[in-house]
Amino acid sequence: MTNGTVNQSKSPLEILIIGAGFAGLGMGITLKKAGITSFKIYEKANNLGGTWHHNTYPGCGCDVPSFLYSYSFAPKSDWTRDYPKQKEILTYLEDCAEEYEITRHIHLNTEISEAVFNEKETIWNVSTSSGEQLQANIVISACGQLNNPKIANIKGRETFQGTQFHSARWNHNYDFNGKTVGVIGTGASAVQFLPVIAQQVKKLIVFHRSANWVIPKSDRQLTEFDHWLFRTFPFLMTLYRWSVYLYFESLLVTINLQKDGIAGKIAAIWLNNYRESRVKDERLKEVLRPKEPVLCKRFLLSSNYYETLQLPNVEVIDQPIDKITENAIATTDGKEHEIDALIWATGFQSTKFLSSLKIVGPHQKSLHETWENGPQAYKGIVVPDFPNFFMLYGPNTNLGSNSIVFMLECQANYIRSCIEMMQEQGITNLKVKPETNTEFNEKLQESAEKTVWMNNCSSWYKNEDGKLTNNWPYSSVRYWFATRKADRNDFICS
Ligand code: NAP
Repeated sequence: MTNGTVNQSKSPLEILIIGAGFAGLGMGITLKKAGITSFKIYEKANNLGGTWHHNTYPGCGCDVPSFLYSYSFAPKSDWTRDYPKQKEILTYLEDCAEEYEITRHIHLNTEISEAVFNEKETIWNVSTSSGEQLQANIVISACGQLNNPKIANIKGRETFQGTQFHSARWNHNYDFNGKTVGVIGTGASAVQFLPVIAQQVKKLIVFHRSANWVIPKSDRQLTEFDHWLFRTFPFLMTLYRWSVYLYFESLLVTINLQKDGIAGKIAAIWLNNYRESRVKDERLKEVLRPKEPVLCKRFLLSSNYYETLQLPNVEVIDQPIDKITENAIATTDGKEHEIDALIWATGFQSTKFLSSLKIVGPHQKSLHETWENGPQAYKGIVVPDFPNFFMLYGPNTNLGSNSIVFMLECQANYIRSCIEMMQEQGITNLKVKPETNTEFNEKLQESAEKTVWMNNCSSWYKNEDGKLTNNWPYSSVRYWFATRKADRNDFICS
């Protein structure tokens, strides 16, 4: 049936959520707060937390202050510092799951591998990687953009005889004492663990490809008095949250969204001066000088990264890597840098959305086949021809600055409003109109051209063809406005 002539659904819609990180948990809580309890969350790991469960490297933490990088509906007055470490963020998520009674909805150690839509029965047939068969009316992917570690395709990597691991799968059994350790990559993960392991190893060799802009981090430890203030006067917490939000939003609007903006140029002067004042060695000054506009890739937040790279036991190699041998990394100048262990800090397969999941729509076409020209979705949430399927942290919903939790809450609210619309109007099959999706994405890509990310720099925000697949090219306020409520006119309903 088409718009307006639908059956009244009697039983609640069964909802299956994939992933129990910030996105999946927030989705569950949002549904529960709306009185919708017919959902299950499937998580492949042995604990909830998503990124905050998997990333346990030394120094791991968030580069957005937790007063903002937390759910708006679950403020926490006693964060130990502005930028808490991974364990504290994971504990926060575990506490939220307990407080909102989400734990009993979560099925751990269960990896969803495939979901196939049966149009006749308007049901998703879902398989787990262990062969279990499940069914749901609605499937919500909450897998994130940064969940599949990327190991750079460098010749000879399988011949290396020492220990090697990715930063997001840290080997806590490895004893760094007295070892020479090579690190490939100098992104947001590396700047957090390099200062820690530099204190433990005999020698640290950092393989550096391109320089990022480094913003000094002012990470205040919060006192008992701060906690008392926030607990006693919760509006102060809200005020603080908003001030952090406005700071990041101003970066987004004045620098990220302006390809050649004045604010970016001013920021470059400030950050160049900062780097010049911290780096003494002339060669290193040149190596660490970013060649690309500010915020073209993700900024790095650190007040001890430059200091670390100048320690006597740290060497920065800027020659391109040629190959990996049994015991060394060889660079194109013919040198072999012997190492005992190799850490891949080479990021994630960010543009291969939902890469470990096979989602098949009614026309037997998979989501990945649909996305052969690059992933895209309406508001980053719904895709034509994939009925009753929603995504959190989908294409073009990442922010270059500001908190992703804000975006996740917007998406959860939007999906909740879609589900309420389905239940209230008896819709059993909801899919976004293809023309609505096309128009939305054409405008989005036009706007993307005006952003700093579309300068000539490599970043995980774009796919191999240079299409902006990950970031939202407008303000976060605009995203909030776009996702306040589902509009039935955007959908084909039956
Ligand atoms: P990343 O930012 O993608 O950095 C990957 C690094 O590996 C870059 O320095 C890259 O060099 C280098 N690289 C990749 N392939 C290489 C190759 N073949 N040879 C040499 N170098 C190579 O990854 P990440 O540091 O894991 O961070 C990813 C994202 O995760 C961040 O941007 C951030 O959004 C998120 N994150 C957040 C936090 C947080 O505090 N919230 C912490 C960690 C990570 P090029 O720059 O030259 O490509």
